[in-house]
Amino acid sequence: MAAPGVSEPLASALVGQVEFLAVPFLFILCLVALMLLAVASLPIWLAIRHIIDRRRMAALQAEWRREHFDADGTPLPPTAPGLCDACQKASEKVYYMPSGRRLCEACRKESSGCP
Ligand SMILES: [Zn+2]
Repeated sequence: MAAPGVSEPLASALVGQVEFLAVPFLFILCLVALMLLAVASLPIWLAIRHIIDRRRMAALQAEWRREHFDADGTPLPPTAPGLCDACQKASEKVYYMPSGRRLCEACRKESSGCP
């Protein structure tokens, strides 16, 4: 089964050498394929992380906006824990109104006319 011009022992030695080299060659081929897969998946991973980070940032900005602005967009006065001047109850969040009064969330909404 040797090619024309190649003797039988030389042909079998060549086949043995090819089989001997095939295992490390396939191993290196697999490593290269894994490296290419890792390099190719990096931009996909970065894009997914970018989308997740943008959504997280948008949620944080919406929460900050909700804490610092009213529903109609007017800025809310500064807050601190304390006593409400209207209902005399202690609250975690008392608004220090520009008039000097301290109002809790419910009394502030009541006095501003919001339900
Ligand atoms: Zn109150």
